[in-house]
Amino acid sequence: MLKEIGIGGGLGLIVGLLLLGLNIYPLIFILVLMLLVFKMMDMKGGMKQFNSIKGGAGRRSGLICFQDIGGQNSAKRELQEALDFLRDPDMIKAMGIRPLKGILLVGPPGTGKTLLARAAATYTNSEFIPAAGSEFIEMYAGVGAQRVRQLFQQARTMAKNNKKKSAIIFIDEIEILGAKRGSHSSHLEYDQTLNQLLVEMDGLSLDDEVTILMVAATNRHDLLDKALLRPGRFDRIVQVELPDCEGRLQILNIHARNKPLASDVNLENIAMETFGFSGAQLESLTNEAAILAFREKAKQLGTKHLKEAIDKVIMGEKLDRRPDKDECMRIAIHETGHAVISECIRPSSISTVAIVPRGKAMGYIRQIPEKDSYLYTREHLEGQIAVLLGGAVSEEEVLGSRSTGATMDFEQAIELARTIITSGLSSMGVVSTNDLPNGVLHEYMKEIISSQEERVRKLIRNYLPVIKNVAHYLLEKERISGNYLRELLRREQKNAV
Ligand code: ATP
Repeated sequence: MLKEIGIGGGLGLIVGLLLLGLNIYPLIFILVLMLLVFKMMDMKGGMKQFNSIKGGAGRRSGLICFQDIGGQNSAKRELQEALDFLRDPDMIKAMGIRPLKGILLVGPPGTGKTLLARAAATYTNSEFIPAAGSEFIEMYAGVGAQRVRQLFQQARTMAKNNKKKSAIIFIDEIEILGAKRGSHSSHLEYDQTLNQLLVEMDGLSLDDEVTILMVAATNRHDLLDKALLRPGRFDRIVQVELPDCEGRLQILNIHARNKPLASDVNLENIAMETFGFSGAQLESLTNEAAILAFREKAKQLGTKHLKEAIDKVIMGEKLDRRPDKDECMRIAIHETGHAVISECIRPSSISTVAIVPRGKAMGYIRQIPEKDSYLYTREHLEGQIAVLLGGAVSEEEVLGSRSTGATMDFEQAIELARTIITSGLSSMGVVSTNDLPNGVLHEYMKEIISSQEERVRKLIRNYLPVIKNVAHYLLEKERISGNYLRELLRREQKNAV
């Protein structure tokens, strides 16, 4: 309306000036300039549509249900409980329960927080409006706040247009928009945006024509402003953790549903071998396995594709780096050393030994975790230190010298030795490492590592011919499975007797 009045008034002024015979060019110049400035402000602020809003219906085409999310049983349960107020608002009113306005999903990347929010929208038959915290932040003060207002307004409009009684606004990376006030250099813009979000949330009510629920996700819960977390705002916090073995199996099953699996595939074993993987990594694993099978022109995904895909997800893509023959031999002896020590300390612990360069490594071994473990004993940590030292000691015993290839192994071994001390598992008992006299920590770490080095040297000397022969097999094949390694070890040991 204002626009029309402005255009009409402007034209009238120009005609008036023309009739008076005055020069109108400076006026036209000023008007064009003003028009350009308005246009730019429109683009920066108010008229900008969120991707989510523009594509809202499109993104919703594949509806996600809680059954499509593997594991996360406690997160799903907690979330579903919290959502019941959207499904049965009358009951909530009758009981005098304060309606929930915000749910915060907290957990590491790729654990399914966005999936949970989308499933929440399906479960409550709500309009789903996703946005990312970074979409609200611009250099210009006030733009973010305007976008927050617009987001709520559009959620209402979209829900009404689609004849829905409720809408779920999902903000990913809420820590960008909701960080503690005053913590940003351009804090005026950040603070105004956060204040606007708080105002909008405070204004939400069950009596609104469209009930709005805010769901936000973060993996930096500690950065959020306290005002966001107080009762009546994001006061329901749902932890979304990395999946356990059963959860991983469910996720693998979900992502393997549309893929032809060979009869030798046992997803339970793959779930066991992928301790620490997030849902997103498991999805990537099945996808990479399918790509590997496709490249080989195989009709089905076999165990070898899935295992190679695990290596790829952990270590990265294979590199073209080609070491010369001598270096390859050294790498093979190094990796065989790790593998032999791992098998001595925990039989059947090796899943793969490879001399294929991936990421920073020229070769690698992958162990099968005994079980999902969250606590470790001193014995376990010492065993891991021994496995890490196995590569360098093997090089030294077989080739007469070490190389820089063990640098990363040593870094990890030192960290494990430090963990033994800080957890009170060393002969020093419980100590504060910060208060130890100079050099004492180092001496104790050295003692732990040296005693493991002794242990490893004795074992490697018992296996010298075996290590040389296995290293030759590895040179030929580049990658051998744990089962094949164990068969070789048995065969070589028999021959040695
Ligand atoms: P971020 O914190 O990085 O935004 P997120 O926790 O929101 O990650 P999602 O975007 O929900 O993670 O998940 C990414 C992808 O990983 C999903 O599209 C899905 O393919 C897969 N995925 C993650 N968790 C699960 C799960 N529990 N079940 C099935 N698939 C999952």
